[in-house]
Amino acid sequence: METTLQIFRTSYAFRNREFPIGKGKALQFIYGSKQSKTKGGLNAGTATTNVYRSSTFKAEMKAMQSQCCSPDEVIFGPDFHQSLYCHLLCGLIFREEIQLVFSTFAHSLVHAFRTFELVWEELCDDIREGVLSSRITVPSIRAAMSKILKPNPELADLIHKKCSGLSNWYGLIPELFPNAKYLSGIMTGSMEHYLKKLRHYAGDLPLMSADYGSSEGWIGANVNPSLPPELATFAVLPNIGYFEFIPQRLGNLESQVLCIEPKPVGLTEVKVGEEYEIIVTNVAGLYRYRLGDVVKVMGFHNSTPELKFICRRNLLLTINIDKNTEKDLQLSVDEAAQLLAEEKQEVVDFTSHVDLSTDPGHYVIFWEVSGEVNDEVLKECCNCLDRSFVDAGYVSARKVNAIGPLELRVVLKGTFQQILDHYLGLGAALSQFKTPRCVGPTNKTVLQILCNNIGKSYFSTAYG
Ligand code: AMP
Repeated sequence: METTLQIFRTSYAFRNREFPIGKGKALQFIYGSKQSKTKGGLNAGTATTNVYRSSTFKAEMKAMQSQCCSPDEVIFGPDFHQSLYCHLLCGLIFREEIQLVFSTFAHSLVHAFRTFELVWEELCDDIREGVLSSRITVPSIRAAMSKILKPNPELADLIHKKCSGLSNWYGLIPELFPNAKYLSGIMTGSMEHYLKKLRHYAGDLPLMSADYGSSEGWIGANVNPSLPPELATFAVLPNIGYFEFIPQRLGNLESQVLCIEPKPVGLTEVKVGEEYEIIVTNVAGLYRYRLGDVVKVMGFHNSTPELKFICRRNLLLTINIDKNTEKDLQLSVDEAAQLLAEEKQEVVDFTSHVDLSTDPGHYVIFWEVSGEVNDEVLKECCNCLDRSFVDAGYVSARKVNAIGPLELRVVLKGTFQQILDHYLGLGAALSQFKTPRCVGPTNKTVLQILCNNIGKSYFSTAYG
C-alpha cells in the first residue's frame, strides 16, 4: 500500500503540474477479483484488488481529485460484465464531474468503450426511466445503483444526440465527458497495440501512460507525462526497492563464447542506450527476484535512470535459430495491419503460436479483425507478417525452409472475448488482464478456443 501510494503521489504531482485537474471524480474501469484463503488462513487475491479495497487508498484518491465515480458494489461485483455496464452508467450520470478516465491497463479502456458502442441505447433508456436494466441481476449492485440512478430524460436525450452525431465513434470520450482532462493507464509494452483505437475514442484528449510496476513491486514513475505513450519512460524511484540490472548485451569475447550471463550492475552504473533485465529486492520480501522484463536506459532524471519498457524477456517465438520477442511480434502485426487500415478495418486483438506438428514447424498468427476483408488483402497481410520478422535467424531459416511458411488464421468475432472470459473464470481480474501474446502447447483451453473459431486461414508465399 505504502509503495503504491508513494508512486501514485509522485506521478500525480508531475502530471498535475502540466495537466491540472479540477474538483471532481474519475471514471475508473477497475474491478476486484475473487478472493480466496490460503491454507495458512491469509487472504489471497490480485494486487490491485487489495489496493482498491483499502480505505487509505480511497482517501488518497479523493485528495488527488481522482475518486472513483462508481460505488464499491460495482467495483467488487461478482460479474465483470455487470460491473462494466454500471461503471459506464455511473460515468454518464456524473459526466460533468468526470476529470479523467482511467484503467490499470489500456486494454480495459478499449474494451469498455467497445462495449459502450453495443449498449449505449440501453444506458440511455436506464437514465431516461431511472430504472436499471434487467441485465443487472446482482442484488448488491442493484441496491447501490438505485441510490444513484434517477429519471433524467434531458440527460438521456443529450447523450443520445451526442452519440448519434459521432462519425464512427471518433472523439466519443470528450463528447461524453466534457470536463475530462486526459485518459490514464498503462499504455506501453503489450498495451501499445490498443493505442490506435484509444486515440480514436479519445479525439483530442491527451493519453497519459501510467507508471511501471508489477504485482511484485513498483519500479518507476512517468515524470514526463506530456510525452506520447510511444515515447514514455519511467524514472526509477530509488527508495521504492533495491534494483540491479543484468546487461542484455554479452560483454567480452569470453562470455560470448561461453554464453555466460554478464554480472548485474547497480542503479547508478547503467549506461544510456543499453538494455537490461531488472532484478528486484524489496519490502515485499523478494530477494534478487528476476522480474522477467527487459528495459532500455533512455537517460537520467537527476541521478536516477529513466527506463523504457522493451519487452518480457522470454522469447515468444522460436523454432530453431530464430529469436522473436513480443516486441518483434507487435512490430510485425503493426506493419501488416496497415494494409487493413487501407480497407478501413483493424486488428481487434492478436496472439501467436508455434506449430511444430508440421515439418518444418511454422509460426501461426491469430487475428480477430473488426469487419469483412477480402481474401486478397488477407493473403497480402499474411505475406507481410512473414516478411516483417526481420530477425536474421528467422529470415535465414525461412529462406532454406528450415521454418515453414507463416500461417495467418483469422478467427471469428468475439473469440478474444471468449479468451478473456476463460481467464476471468479462473479468477483473473479484468483490471490486470493482458492478452497472452503467445499460446504455448500446454495452454490447451486457449488453443482450443482459438482453433474452434477459425474463420479463414492463409499461408505465406513471401519466400516463394
Ligand atoms: P502484473 O504481474 O499483472 O502486475 O503485471 C506486471 C507486468 O506488466 C510487468 O512485469 C510488465 O511486464 C507489465 N507492465 C507493467 N507496467 C508496465 C508499463 N508501464 N509498461 C509496460 N509494461 C508494463
